[in-house]
Amino acid sequence: MNCQLLLGDEAAAQGAIDAGIGGAFSYPGTPATEIFEAVEEHVRRQGDAAGISVLWSANEKVAYEEALGMSYAGKRALVSMKHVGLNVAADPFMSSAITGVNAGLVLVVADDPGMHSSQNEQDSRHYAEFAQLPLYEPGNQQEAYDQVRAAFDESEAIGLPVMVRMVTRLCHSRSTVTTRAGAAAESGDESSAHAALRPRPDYNDWVLVPTNARRRFRRLLDLQPQLLRDSEQSSWNRLRLSGTRGIIAAGIGSNYVEEALAGSTDDSVLRIGRYPLPAALIRSLVDHCDEIVVVEDGYPFIERRLNGILGVPGKAVRGRLSGDLPLDGELTPDSVAAALGAAFVSPAQPLAGLAGRPPQLCKGCPHADSFKAIVEAAAPLGNAYMFSDVGCYALGVLPPFRAVHSCVDMGASISMAFGAVQAGAHPVVCTIGDSTFAHSGMTPLLGAARANANMTVFVLDNAAVGMTGAQESLSCGERLVEIIRGLGVDPAHIHVIEPLAKHHQANVDLIRREIEYPGLSVVIPRRACIHVKRQAKVRQAEPTCGAGCTCGTVALPAGATA
Ligand code: SF4
Repeated sequence: MNCQLLLGDEAAAQGAIDAGIGGAFSYPGTPATEIFEAVEEHVRRQGDAAGISVLWSANEKVAYEEALGMSYAGKRALVSMKHVGLNVAADPFMSSAITGVNAGLVLVVADDPGMHSSQNEQDSRHYAEFAQLPLYEPGNQQEAYDQVRAAFDESEAIGLPVMVRMVTRLCHSRSTVTTRAGAAAESGDESSAHAALRPRPDYNDWVLVPTNARRRFRRLLDLQPQLLRDSEQSSWNRLRLSGTRGIIAAGIGSNYVEEALAGSTDDSVLRIGRYPLPAALIRSLVDHCDEIVVVEDGYPFIERRLNGILGVPGKAVRGRLSGDLPLDGELTPDSVAAALGAAFVSPAQPLAGLAGRPPQLCKGCPHADSFKAIVEAAAPLGNAYMFSDVGCYALGVLPPFRAVHSCVDMGASISMAFGAVQAGAHPVVCTIGDSTFAHSGMTPLLGAARANANMTVFVLDNAAVGMTGAQESLSCGERLVEIIRGLGVDPAHIHVIEPLAKHHQANVDLIRREIEYPGLSVVIPRRACIHVKRQAKVRQAEPTCGAGCTCGTVALPAGATA
């Protein structure tokens, strides 16, 4: 036993480490980034002894497939991502419910109710139900640790991936967590219970041609009664029958309910931390109570099912749909207390009264110089269509730049620009970061290059995934230029510029020429994010890393200037 003060993200990571994973896979995205980083930090401290592979993946789909491959090969794998990342990984995720897994595979998804750092509020519980897979929803950091460990055991026992759903408030707050010895020590095999590969599965199960897929889908359907039974009996779903007001509290909502009730046991409470929804427990609560209050962060997932189309005869169901809790944004202790008629009021906020500060590019950010040049170059050429993408540079929407007219999803800048070109729009420019380009920008550029589309693409090479903490980028420096050339863009219209004030006029002239060129141009403003430089300084005393090193030491990529 060991007591540590951990973020929810770190607790989930520690649960995976102690469950004996062979690898962690992810693409940075708030609020999930720290899950992978906690495993990475563990590996950095332990070195090879950790026996865990940690490499950022190009995107969430790739991360999921890499984890699936590790599971197939016989080692436990953790894959983590933010909620919108699961949209990207939805294809392998859905199919992996049919193939099943060999060694345990756990997907930790971090939802962002309130959109603190996201483009939408989607609730990943729908994905688990869609795929008909088991889901855990921790209510606190200790549960994040325990449930991830339990999820690995369950995944292996039933041969299915298991999802753990967290939310921002849990991911990014700390609490004490009691950890247990790792799986290796518990099994008595100090050389690590999971060091050896599990025997390979029958590959017929993994080849989803129709005959196999139908058979495997039938297996998934046949498992559903067992998954429901497991939920009914799960210690994460607890029912206490008391008064005639019933409360269903899911995940972090249970924390807020406990706080609002302040120890009172007058209400009947069903605490939900494991799905599929325990229907029999819900029925018991509803039978016992006159009214039900549903407290859940995210969509009204449970409340909607409880209401169905006709509602629950003779019972009042209250929650987000009824307006007792807000339909959007995250739950708060105050909103839950108000819905329960409790007097709880959040302690005074020490920063209350400070004026809000809108986000902005860091002082010295290379994107500022890039946008300045792009806007100036495009100005005399008409009202340019300026598509952009997900990253710090989306802040180019703000004055003085006003150079971002769209930011929809990873990689959409290039595809949307190409769509606009096909509609006859002109001039068309788009901005995308080097990491977002690796994530989802290469494929649309392939199509635009084939058509020699009349548009100008700016791949803003800041040598990092800047927005999430300057993680490693997979396509920056000279490698980025080679990739763009390889995708078929005319080398005469690929240019690398240095976005600095001293080069401003030369950059404006070059950009204007390329916008005027009636074909596809790619301009790469290349200057490192200031945080890459800072990290390099902090770690400059550490050993130099070779290619493929996973120790986490940050070195400026070849060709990057800071
Ligand atoms: S983190 Fe880096 S890329 Fe992002 S705004 Fe700051 S300097 Fe620019």
